[in-house]
Amino acid sequence: MAAPNRSRRALLLGRQAARTPLRPPWALDESAFLDACTGCGACIERCPEQVLVRSAAGYAVFDPHLGECTFCGDCADACTPRAIDRTASEVPWRTLASAGDACLPRHGVVCSSCRDACPERAIAFPLSTRVPTPVIDPARCNGCGACVSVCPVDAVALMHLEQA
Ligand code: SF4
Ligand code: SF4
Ligand code: SF4
Repeated sequence: MAAPNRSRRALLLGRQAARTPLRPPWALDESAFLDACTGCGACIERCPEQVLVRSAAGYAVFDPHLGECTFCGDCADACTPRAIDRTASEVPWRTLASAGDACLPRHGVVCSSCRDACPERAIAFPLSTRVPTPVIDPARCNGCGACVSVCPVDAVALMHLEQA
């Protein structure tokens, strides 16, 4: 696979405050990740769920529209430069799901597909309104992304905790 476009590194870091990409679980902090990743693509090839893709700049990105991360750790095991390093952090990432304005119940349409897909039972629909809307428990959500692809209106996004 092609090496990452190093000339874009500064641009990526410049945009970091606005929107850090969703890297693989256990990826180092963005700056360290960009320094360590060689763009070999081993993590992408190893992922059994095929939820990792190469960005235009050549770095691995988690795309929850492709499916759920099961936290199997295969991507980390495949990463010889240790840009993804399970020993570097107690948690795989600090990422949280959020349902946006397009969410159907907010427009009076009953839907609970995200709750049904969530393996952590992190999504509740409190009976406080005529059509209950999803409430995501940040203590339960592990950012796996299982709720993203099942949403019929693409209303769910994963966000870094500091950006949520
Ligand atoms: S932990 Fe497993 S499922 Fe998740 S991105 Fe890595 S290889 Fe894929
Ligand atoms: S699946 Fe999408 S539209 Fe349905 S309740 Fe969840 S966020 Fe809203
Ligand atoms: S990201 Fe995973 S754990 Fe979090 S609400 Fe969605 S399905 Fe549940």
